[in-house]
Amino acid sequence: MLTATVTILQMLEPSTPVQFVKGIGPKLSEILAAKGVSTVDDLLHHLPFRYEDRQNPRGIAELQMGEMATLIAEVRNSGLFRTRRMPIFQLTVGQGRSRLKCLWFNGAYLKDKFQPGQLLALYGKVELNRGELQLVNPEFEILGTEETAEEKAAESLEVGRIVPIYESAGQGRLTSRWFRRIINNALKDLTPELPEGIPAAVRRRLTLPSPREALWKVHWPTDGESLHDLQSQRTPAHIRIIFEELFFIELGLELKRREQKTKTGHAFQLNDGVREAIKKILPFHPTGAQKRALKEIASDMEKPFPMRRLLQGDVGSGKTLVAFEAAIIAIENGFQVALMAPTEILAQQHYFSARRILEPSGYRIVLLTGSLEDDRKREIRRHIAQGDAQLVIGTHALIEQRVDFAKLGLVIVDEQHRFGVMQRFKLMKKRDANVGTGALARPAEQSSAAAEPDVLVMTATPIPRTLALTLYGDLDISVLDQMPPGRTPIVTRRLGDERSDEVWQFVRKQAAAGHQAYVVYPVIQENEESELKAAMKMYGQLSKKTFPDLNVAVLHGRMDAALKEQVMRLFQQGKIQILVSTTVIEVGVDVPNATVMVVEHAERFGLAQLHQLRGRIGRGAARSYCILMTGGKVSEDGDRRLDALVRTNDGFQIAELDLELRGPGEFFGTRQAGLPSFQVASLIRDRDLLELAKKEAAALLSGPNSEISQSEIDRALWQMRTRWQKTYGLVEVG
Ligand code: ADP
Ligand code: MG
Repeated sequence: MLTATVTILQMLEPSTPVQFVKGIGPKLSEILAAKGVSTVDDLLHHLPFRYEDRQNPRGIAELQMGEMATLIAEVRNSGLFRTRRMPIFQLTVGQGRSRLKCLWFNGAYLKDKFQPGQLLALYGKVELNRGELQLVNPEFEILGTEETAEEKAAESLEVGRIVPIYESAGQGRLTSRWFRRIINNALKDLTPELPEGIPAAVRRRLTLPSPREALWKVHWPTDGESLHDLQSQRTPAHIRIIFEELFFIELGLELKRREQKTKTGHAFQLNDGVREAIKKILPFHPTGAQKRALKEIASDMEKPFPMRRLLQGDVGSGKTLVAFEAAIIAIENGFQVALMAPTEILAQQHYFSARRILEPSGYRIVLLTGSLEDDRKREIRRHIAQGDAQLVIGTHALIEQRVDFAKLGLVIVDEQHRFGVMQRFKLMKKRDANVGTGALARPAEQSSAAAEPDVLVMTATPIPRTLALTLYGDLDISVLDQMPPGRTPIVTRRLGDERSDEVWQFVRKQAAAGHQAYVVYPVIQENEESELKAAMKMYGQLSKKTFPDLNVAVLHGRMDAALKEQVMRLFQQGKIQILVSTTVIEVGVDVPNATVMVVEHAERFGLAQLHQLRGRIGRGAARSYCILMTGGKVSEDGDRRLDALVRTNDGFQIAELDLELRGPGEFFGTRQAGLPSFQVASLIRDRDLLELAKKEAAALLSGPNSEISQSEIDRALWQMRTRWQKTYGLVEVG
């Protein structure tokens, strides 16, 4: 009885701190904590990054040079040699009459480790040295004497089986071997009662093993498990563990999405008057995709709960028009609209297009930017507060700070990828706390009874669909997957610097044909004096030497706002033929007559950025040309980026490659703060499971039914909350 109690007390729960795992203790647990491993659960989710097949021990006589081999042999003799460079430990082992030398470089620590007659299990690479086969730096395990050896070999963590290989930690102090031992200890002492949060029907459908079985097998695969499935993390055990993580994330997101539909929003009217107002501004027939997106948006806006929708589409797919149509619905219903852009330049550009496109409607449009005089800002704020500014355009920062709207009905967020998931969760939190979107909400006492505005998020870089589902899982998604008609595909070429004369001749020809050109210089950091200087020098040359007879202008982020506006307008009107610019034109600029985009030092730009730049041309009927010039040596990745651009215009394909080249963290530009910290899942490898998880999460929330019981739903929701709590801190779900 007593022993039973003691065993139960020693059982490890998933939430038990790692230091209680046999072999860890306080010191090592600190190293683990730095790696984000603080509980038994964390430790057990430190998965092997590969596996080694160390089944089938071999005979010394049959070893081949270059192979990885496992063998069991007896210690014969050993010695430590000091070469000039390092101490080498040498051990001779034997099987009957065969002998084999094993070497460990820097092996002084092994000096007193072995005794003649001991049986060892060894695993390592067979190498040829001075005409003799040897094992170099092999993994080993002492199996002891002949009597105990058989039993020990059966239990060995190092040989005679498929062995998990872990990433080491603590600057190599916690080795793969150490993890094998420790994780094995944790598994042995793990409570048999692991909670099961995935409903039985789902488990059956996907043939998922139990949590306990999955954890065991992912670390210690059964003999004969497919090595290929193991390496690609697609054994049933792997699938269970990865799916589980994604399932609970998706469950949380899906719940958030549904919750939104229980809140109070504005139910806008979509009557004939509104339809007329929309038609009046349309300069052309909307594409099928635009119509579909508008229909989805309008239908959300008519409903009495707040819209939360993402409008996704490649550059040039015509998002702006759709956004303005949505704005018209709100304005015609007597509400104000806020359009937030990530940068001041972009806000200005939205302002220009709004004025141009919405001109016939006579709406009152204001631009609120940081560079305005204080008096002017105050005046604009007053117009907003009094409700006579109908469309307010500004930067996120500006609008989110204390702007008091009289009657805010719709917020359009031009996201341009500046927000990652974690930031969005934070924003959501703020929204939840404030009732409203971000700090747009007015003080609580005023707004507690008020309805939340609708929110439309626009994103420019196409995100592969499955990723959009995770990143924006709490939003409904509309996709513009069709380009406006009349576009001729852009021709993209890459050329070395030395051919710039040809390039300028070509630009001249295009200008003579009445077209316009952009020349972009990489000033990534607008505050970098030296980069800006180089750009200005380039401008000086082009305007004075190369094209003295043409109108050449320059545009960069540090120019005065009014001047920028003027340059942009002149370019728009065709009065400037060549616009030398920094990356400020990356997004938003829309001049259909511009047919050439020359990018200097294209190798310095990211793939998505180049695609965005290229999106500035190819907007009219004439053929457009993107010329990527490279100066100096281009890295291998740089080569792949530039070649991808030459090969395809498809933003989705480019996004995929970008994701592959940079990894999700860089891709979303939010390495530190942006992405959910997945324990085991990978956004690239596990898209199929993500899709599945999303589907099953939605199915669960529409239950209970013949397959899923209420208690299973409750259990799943409970697990989801605990996980979200742990991963995202205070973010509340459900
Ligand atoms: P983005 O999705 O990159 O914001 P824009 O909204 O700037 O794209 O639109 C790109 C260009 O296509 C603009 O010149 C715009 O006026 C034009 N455009 C948008 N919709 C259509 C359409 N249905 N037919 C023709 N041209 C369109
Ligand atoms: Mg746009």
